[in-house]
Amino acid sequence: MIRNYPLTGHNSFGLDVMAAWACKIFDIRDLEKIIQSSVFTDEKHIILGGGSNCLFLDDYFEGLVLLIKNKGITIVEESGNSVIVSVAAGENWSDFVDSMVDRGYGGLENLSLIPGKVGAAPIQNIGAYGVELMDVFIGLQALDLHTRELVNFNREACEFGYRSSLFKTSDKDRYVILSIDVMLHKNHTPNISYGSVAKALQQKGITKPGISDVAQIVKEIRQAKLPDPAVLGNAGSFFKNPLVHNLVFQNLKNDYPELRGYPESYETTKISAAWLIEKAGWKGKRIGDAGVHTKQALVLVNHGKANGRDIYSLAMEIQQDVKNKFGVVLEPEVNFI
Ligand SMILES: Cc1cc2nc3c(=O)[nH]c(=O)nc-3n(C[C@H](O)[C@H](O)[C@H](O)COP(=O)(O)OP(=O)(O)OC[C@H]3O[C@@H](n4cnc5c(N)ncnc54)[C@H](O)[C@@H]3O)c2cc1C
Repeated sequence: MIRNYPLTGHNSFGLDVMAAWACKIFDIRDLEKIIQSSVFTDEKHIILGGGSNCLFLDDYFEGLVLLIKNKGITIVEESGNSVIVSVAAGENWSDFVDSMVDRGYGGLENLSLIPGKVGAAPIQNIGAYGVELMDVFIGLQALDLHTRELVNFNREACEFGYRSSLFKTSDKDRYVILSIDVMLHKNHTPNISYGSVAKALQQKGITKPGISDVAQIVKEIRQAKLPDPAVLGNAGSFFKNPLVHNLVFQNLKNDYPELRGYPESYETTKISAAWLIEKAGWKGKRIGDAGVHTKQALVLVNHGKANGRDIYSLAMEIQQDVKNKFGVVLEPEVNFI
């Protein structure tokens, strides 16, 4: 257990934050020990992977931070074309994807280069370029902080949705995810349905892409579009793309014919949060050191000396302005701490 632990390197906004207590969890024994301590029972606590989807509102977190550091990648089962892989929560997500692509196991290539740790991937059912974690997910193991027992979740039990799961909604902060299992395939046909991926493949003249082609293209698109948190603090998409009723979409489309919609269900259409923010005039704007990225309006950035409240205030101003202008409420994707 460490007193007054700096979290500056543990949040991708690059905020100068300190935690009253921190504990590094290298295995289940560390976790079992810590939950019996008085610090755990007396203080509030948070679970932290890479801190790439969190905004610390205050400079001092009056509580205990559980830093998930367990490691290990195990092939659990190999049968015919499919492989079940179990991976520890503390592994780096992007490195894990690379290692699977290198072995020729397909299914994760579209999720290349997403920052953070494996244990956080189910929290918001991470997704990119037409693929979500739930597409390959088999199950996970977690410690229930309420009952203090180890529990297994299958895919259905996780209640995955668009950037959502049970762990981000009804049971937020209840479980410490220790490992996840995914099913990958050796003869995998990559998903190239996403517009920018298909376009880039076409430009390169790749007609029959393998998983490493797709991984490479996804990395190139991401590097061109998204700011590197090591250079410019950010947490990727700050808001979710809103799902609106089809009638709301039609009304907006009448006013803005260029607005594109993606049918999500019988009644709802997904629209681009980036489009709404850009159309409202926020792209590239900054208030002090809190700003909206110049290339991608959905990404809020720390130009240097912003604190958590500066970024939060900017986000709330954007949210209110988009609501006033379009009648659409943007829901934050980032977790506020
Ligand atoms: C440049 C950039 C690009 C991004 N692109 C994408 C993208 O394309 N798609 C996407 O979905 N996301 C994206 N993100 C967001 C982020 O990378 C993912 O949400 C990632 O899964 C967060 O991992 P983390 O370890 O950093 O989580 P943290 O920020 O540490 O934690 C996020 C949440 O998960 C909880 N948590 C973390 N680990 C555990 C655990 N082991 N058990 C229980 N709870 C846990 C935390 O308490 C917190 O609520 C991007 C972020 C950045 C900075």
